[in-house]
Amino acid sequence: VRELRPSKIREMSLRAAKLDGVISLGIGEPDFQTAPEICRRALADALAGATHYAPSQGDPELLDALRGHMGESYGLAVAPENLMVTTGGMGALTAVFRTILNPGDEVLVPEPHFPEYRAHIELAGGKVVHVPTRFDQEYVLTARAVRGALTERAKVLLLNTPNNPTGAVIPGAQLDELAELAREKDLLVVCDEVYDQLIYDGRRHESIATRPGMAARSLVIGSFSKTFAMTGWRLGYAFGPPEIIAEMTKVAAYYTSCAASVSQRAGLAALRHGLKAVGRMVAAFQRRRDLVFEALSAVPGVRVTKPAGAFYIFPDVGEITRDVDRFVLDLLDQERVVVIPGTPFGPSGRTSLRMAFTVDLPLLEEAMTRFARFAARRPHRPMAGSGAIRRADQRRG
Ligand code: PLP
Repeated sequence: VRELRPSKIREMSLRAAKLDGVISLGIGEPDFQTAPEICRRALADALAGATHYAPSQGDPELLDALRGHMGESYGLAVAPENLMVTTGGMGALTAVFRTILNPGDEVLVPEPHFPEYRAHIELAGGKVVHVPTRFDQEYVLTARAVRGALTERAKVLLLNTPNNPTGAVIPGAQLDELAELAREKDLLVVCDEVYDQLIYDGRRHESIATRPGMAARSLVIGSFSKTFAMTGWRLGYAFGPPEIIAEMTKVAAYYTSCAASVSQRAGLAALRHGLKAVGRMVAAFQRRRDLVFEALSAVPGVRVTKPAGAFYIFPDVGEITRDVDRFVLDLLDQERVVVIPGTPFGPSGRTSLRMAFTVDLPLLEEAMTRFARFAARRPHRPMAGSGAIRRADQRRG
């Protein structure tokens, strides 16, 4: 525990809270409020008695609604024993690694990655093995990269699509290859799909669990946090083989007893009445994505890929600075814009920044103006051959 480092994201937010006039592109949560309809229904259910412990696997009505939702949006056959409700995607991550890892087991973690994975894996006695993804491949994970990182003790492949922090989405053809590799090497696959509904340009989310033979070796992690702007309700879920879900339910029961009853009622209302609002939110995020992508593409010294999903963009500023940790502090002090340095996301992030486009268009525009002004004050050294890949659109899929 002493070796765990405090989250850089929280650290930047605390620093910014002491300053006036700050625009935060730091923390990864929608700026939208939970829909009033969801709040009203959850409150009505609380008043009617949804204030007791729920079963550890989850509120039966919510489990039922989730089965329908996953069947429809993933094309998965879901039996009641395939599902459990958790305290956010985080609760599912806690339960899954404590269930499936023995001390010393290795987890293949594509990077740049959500920094919290390391703590979840190490607290369960596991070891992180990085699989690099590359800017010039738009950070899309390939089976070839996984093969290059495979070790004798690798037990689990972790996927995160759409990805935090790059916004990359793994296209269907790559999922086929990754599934083939998982079957060949007998890997379990943990697929963090908490951004599954936040996907742009008319694309649809695809899960590796739908590939032949993969439902038996995949643990899919989902969440209400991002899809329904419900981060504070702490509600998520896990889908997987019944024998693993049963063990994970035991682990979760000892940690948290159950997910909060009133939040589970809110989740039920979200699935029944909240999906329309998701479409509007995604359209708003797509407009913001376009704005930040265009703005960053025009800044000399910045290389950027176009996010296909989630609400992050991960520009590379290696031509402007060799020290992104210092860069983000100076940007905050001089221009009052919060972004997160790429360093906690893994070695491939060491010359990048994560920006969350979780503020509305006028503020986002102002943030981009401030960022461009800040960047223009710094000399930049073009890297050999970087012109051709300065701006890498998502061409696949
Ligand atoms: N997984 C990823 C990739 C995330 O970005 C987050 C939150 O930022 C989570 C999981 C956990 O989210 P929650 O616990 O709110 O569902």
